Amino acid sequence: MSFNTLGLKAELLRAIETQGYTTPTPVQAQAIPAILKGGDILAGAQTGTGKTAAFTLPMLQRLTENTAEQAPTAKRKRAVRALVLTPTRELAAQVAESTQNYAQHLSIKSAVIFGGVNIKPQIDKLRQGVDVIIATPGRLLDHVTQKTVDLSQIEILVLDEADRMLDMGFINDIKKILALLPTSRQNLLFSATYSDEIKRLTQQLLHEPTMIEVARQNMATETVTQLVHPVDRSRKRELLTHIIDAGEWKQVLVFTRTKHSANRLSKQLEQSGITAAAIHGNKSQAQRTKALKSFKTNDIRVLVATDIAARGLDIDQLPHVVNFELPNVAEDYVHRIGRTGRAGNEGEAVSLVCVDELKLLSGIEKLINRDITKEIVEGFAPDPSIKAEAIPNGRNNTGSKQQGRRPAAQARPRSGTPQRKQQSQRGGRKNNSNNRSNNSSPSATPTHSHQASDGLGIQVDQPRTSTEVNGNSIHYKPKPTKRPNQNKTANKKPREVPSLFGG
Ligand code: AMP
Repeated sequence: MSFNTLGLKAELLRAIETQGYTTPTPVQAQAIPAILKGGDILAGAQTGTGKTAAFTLPMLQRLTENTAEQAPTAKRKRAVRALVLTPTRELAAQVAESTQNYAQHLSIKSAVIFGGVNIKPQIDKLRQGVDVIIATPGRLLDHVTQKTVDLSQIEILVLDEADRMLDMGFINDIKKILALLPTSRQNLLFSATYSDEIKRLTQQLLHEPTMIEVARQNMATETVTQLVHPVDRSRKRELLTHIIDAGEWKQVLVFTRTKHSANRLSKQLEQSGITAAAIHGNKSQAQRTKALKSFKTNDIRVLVATDIAARGLDIDQLPHVVNFELPNVAEDYVHRIGRTGRAGNEGEAVSLVCVDELKLLSGIEKLINRDITKEIVEGFAPDPSIKAEAIPNGRNNTGSKQQGRRPAAQARPRSGTPQRKQQSQRGGRKNNSNNRSNNSSPSATPTHSHQASDGLGIQVDQPRTSTEVNGNSIHYKPKPTKRPNQNKTANKKPREVPSLFGG
């Protein structure tokens, strides 16, 4: 399949070539011809699937058609004919950048409109006349109030990441905007999920839409190696530093649940000599843009982000994503790991999971319909005496309490990985390299079970074959972890593990 067969005009094909794309992604292959026909679209596609080009390319083409009566003259300025609404500023900026790239050989002008920055340059730009606006709902309504934008000529409306817009409480803003648009127009709705709210919106908004469904999971999840490192909450930062240093990671996006924790972690990383910046809703747009730019240009190694701030971030070939804390909403996990492994590139998503987060982890595994491989990093095994706190309403509490010892730990590292921490079957607190070596021998591993509890209820990876579970080898047979010291030390005597982590 090639872009040439989709009905796109030469100017757009040239722009696609400049981007280096050779083959349309599944959502592009389905959406582009359907949008070119002029009908409404309901597309279930997440970030990472190539959805931006899927709506931008045909939208631009349609704007170049039937332009005779619309063409700007000396007297008549351009009318805004297409509107793309996005939930976040970052996504708006990225869609705008893509629009400009794809429109480079067309005489189509676009403007990006979002809050957190001076409104004046936006007003100036709108005054000059644009064909396409890419906007977040709040700031667009500010322009409506100030009468600096006219939406009465809109022919194409795109709701990008519509589910996230509803999650973020934009429904009333969207309704206000819809009321300002002409009734006859093409509507393109992209959403990763179909909640009841989305269904209601689609019923009101779309007219006999073409339904496009690409794989429910982000295609990134197929190219992302997912890994869980069980660890105590209090040792997560130390483990993160260790992983980044040991792996010599140059660019890693780290997710936290709260803005506070993003700030704190970013400061702590800086103190440990790892360049980092935080990105979240309390940062000014200038700060966010600066942090993202430094990250993209490799001036900083770590970008610590909350879910909303990271939504829609498009960083080319981002190799590593770390979930410093698991998200409360399982679907956010899929969005998070979709930041890596994009457009066919390989990526690694590592989750640091403490005992309080086990419920969240099993919710995620249920959603993605697979178990994620668990590996204890040597020296960072969870303390088996720490018990999970109750997790009311599926949400985590902030800390964990020591509530007595857990049953005996049983996990062993995979054979050939002696540097990984293991725990004795007796649950003892002391350990030495000899009994680790013994335990790591394949003969000591039960063959009837894929996983064994590490004593905290976390199932830890065991040697296995790739066909043992669900008939799907991809997620049970990860590529060898990239921690360099793992490979380097594979044949060396394991170093002593402090007794705190023995078992
Ligand atoms: P999106 O889902 O729109 O955020 O796109 C995800 C990433 O895929 C972006 O970095 C795009 O530049 C890239 N991309 C989009 N379409 C293609 C394609 N057909 N081939 C290769 N990369 C693509």
